[in-house]
Amino acid sequence: MEQYTLQMQIPVRGQYDVIVAGGGVAGAAAALSAARCGKKVLLTEKSTMLGGLATMGLINYFEPLCNGRGKKIISGMAEEFLLESVKYGWNTIPPQWKDGQSKETTARYITHYSPYIFALQLTEMLHNAGVTLLFDCNAMIPVMEGKHCAGVITDSKSGLELYPAKMVVDTTGDADLLRRSGMPTVTGQNYFTYIGRQVTLEGCRKALETGEARQAVSSICGGGASLYGNGQPEDVPLFTGTTAESVSEYLIRNQKVMLDKLKKQDRLAREVTTLPAMPQFRTTCRIDGDYTLREEDKYTHFPDSVAAICDFDRRNFLYEVPYRTLTRAGYDNLITAGRSAAAVGYAWDILRVIPPAIITGQAAGEAVCQAIDTGKAIWDIDISHLQNTLETRGVMIHFDNNDIVKED
Ligand SMILES: Cc1cc2nc3c(=O)[nH]c(=O)nc-3n(C[C@H](O)[C@H](O)[C@H](O)COP(=O)(O)OP(=O)(O)OC[C@H]3O[C@@H](n4cnc5c(N)ncnc54)[C@H](O)[C@@H]3O)c2cc1C
Repeated sequence: MEQYTLQMQIPVRGQYDVIVAGGGVAGAAAALSAARCGKKVLLTEKSTMLGGLATMGLINYFEPLCNGRGKKIISGMAEEFLLESVKYGWNTIPPQWKDGQSKETTARYITHYSPYIFALQLTEMLHNAGVTLLFDCNAMIPVMEGKHCAGVITDSKSGLELYPAKMVVDTTGDADLLRRSGMPTVTGQNYFTYIGRQVTLEGCRKALETGEARQAVSSICGGGASLYGNGQPEDVPLFTGTTAESVSEYLIRNQKVMLDKLKKQDRLAREVTTLPAMPQFRTTCRIDGDYTLREEDKYTHFPDSVAAICDFDRRNFLYEVPYRTLTRAGYDNLITAGRSAAAVGYAWDILRVIPPAIITGQAAGEAVCQAIDTGKAIWDIDISHLQNTLETRGVMIHFDNNDIVKED
């Protein structure tokens, strides 16, 4: 490909302890954790709201925090966010879990929530915690000095600017900064899924009957492929989601399919209210981390675990998340969290959903604070100290062997 060399002077802005790139749930958790530790934190979000897929991506469903046998596995900031998400809007936490306490129940600790209300709450939470929020601001280029990231060049209405920082957390979901830093990364493949929201007359009648406004809203699909690829049309490619062409082809194809469906419907009986404001890609790009979590790691204790997590589908399966899934040795101040943590195959699916994404965000936020305070490289911090800190915040680091169930 022909290359063009760009040489320009850009302003250097602020000096932050921590830059968090990407304000999905993982980034929000990382920024909040670091701010609560007293660090000066900048969060740049390329869209106009926080929450990422979990809000503007219209994925408004917390996968379970429990193992399906009445035992809460994921807590800490994941539970804090879950409880926050249901405060003012949609709340479908099963009655058995209304008080967040474990019970002998097969009901899982899950909920739907109102995505946009939750997005507003995230802004309030982070702003109140003192995080500097830059919306409509793309974290574009990590300025690398060898394997050290001196800061991040952003692109916004202010133009290109350099924000220096001690630590950088890449929670773009697509490992944008990690990729551009030269750190090894792995690209995924995504099915044809595109789910928007509509209000229908039938839904409105139901809403009036039940007295619940949310009943008026239902889903409307372009592509409707499932997590496992069921419904993937044969003539549609899989999408990496890591190039402008891939993202655009995904959007054009999906929007055409949705429009074709709408053309056949009674125009007076429905109105489309929301299209997903970001591509609904599950697995675009992740860190090739110091450890890659695999499906067969279920029931494995890791000495550097930062959280126990459960499987949303197979209710008994338990995993631990090694800290090494967030780091790459040698890169002293770059860390990731959320859906770009290192996992492969089905383990990637388990690790990337909303509760684990939040909990790895929290771990990354605590880790950067510890690295700054101790002057250590991010991959070389004292893990037991990090684990102790996370435990004091309510995170379960290791699952209990008594909860291992051999048959599912
Ligand atoms: C179709 C689908 C269905 C799903 N269903 C469920 C479900 O039912 N339950 C569940 O728990 N999980 C589900 N998930 C998974 C879950 O929604 C996501 O994995 C999780 O929300 C990821 O959070 P994140 O913060 O890691 O990343 P993201 O949500 O992707 O957030 C990344 C954020 O970074 C921003 N960003 C990106 N690049 C840049 C940049 N360069 N500079 C600045 N900002 C940037 C984005 O705008 C976004 O806000 C589903 C996902 C998909 C796609």
